[in-house]
Amino acid sequence: KGPDPDLVSIAERMATVKHKILVLSGKGGVGKSTFSAQLSFALAAMDFQVGLMDIDICGPSIPKMLGLEGQDVHQSNLGWSPVYIESNLGVMSIGFMLPNPDDAVIWRGPRKNGLIKQFLKDVYWGELDFLIVDAPPGTSDEHISIVQCLEATGIDGAIIVTTPQQVSLIDVRKEVSFCKKVGVKVLGVVENMSGLTQPLLDLKFLKATETEEQVDVTEWAAEYIREKAPELLNLITCSEVFDSSGGGAAKMCREMGVPFLGKVPLDPQLCKAAEEGRSCFGDQKCRVSAPALKKIIENL
Ligand code: ADP
Repeated sequence: KGPDPDLVSIAERMATVKHKILVLSGKGGVGKSTFSAQLSFALAAMDFQVGLMDIDICGPSIPKMLGLEGQDVHQSNLGWSPVYIESNLGVMSIGFMLPNPDDAVIWRGPRKNGLIKQFLKDVYWGELDFLIVDAPPGTSDEHISIVQCLEATGIDGAIIVTTPQQVSLIDVRKEVSFCKKVGVKVLGVVENMSGLTQPLLDLKFLKATETEEQVDVTEWAAEYIREKAPELLNLITCSEVFDSSGGGAAKMCREMGVPFLGKVPLDPQLCKAAEEGRSCFGDQKCRVSAPALKKIIENL
């Protein structure tokens, strides 16, 4: 029996891709796609040639996070063309192939694996410095499939995104052992949503009355602060949303012997940038999240 022709075609496609990075998470909703999107924006801004491939087949959020909703993938004689944001940032997602973004994709494993293979085989990326793969949460068929398909050409490693609380970290441990089992290097773990940061005046101030009704006193509080303590206007408030008393991702990384890449706060402005499909870098409002992400990416 000769070599699998699909794997041979994938190896040919991937020969022009220098680095392949998987972005993983144990759970959904922890910010994996947000990180993949912002990582791609950052690498493209550094003048690298970047491809972002979304294989989260059941919940493709990458088109929206890159401002590409409603775009179509085109066929050429070279294969499927990714959708380009800039000449050096191309994106491929099943989201581009659904006639209606509200459609649910209910596929069984073999069909998902088939699509992943097809993405790897048929998408014409050209020369790439980085291919960022946004994987679904957990460790399922799709993960095994992508690792097997890329085995021959090598994967540089995986970045795992988590939130600080134990329920999320338990699943990260599984993700780390999956990587060890299949021989993918863990480049490191990002702790996302690590404290909620906001400028003081972005907060909503509520006052509980005797009837326990909450009254909005935001305007009054803002006026008071401006008048009595204007120096507070430059402060950023930080509240711990998730319980990190167990030591968070940093402690887990020490225990599991994998690098801890850093923390990114929960920042409503970063959420806004993601909703609007924008890069957070250069957005003056992402005052804490953008520098935190930048530091992590520069240290990779
Ligand atoms: P996942 O890919 O892990 O399912 P997403 O990246 O889709 O998670 O993030 C879930 C939601 O949380 C999105 O609306 C996203 O914009 C928001 N989000 C993620 N990280 C942050 C953050 N650090 N600050 C604010 N919002 C965030």
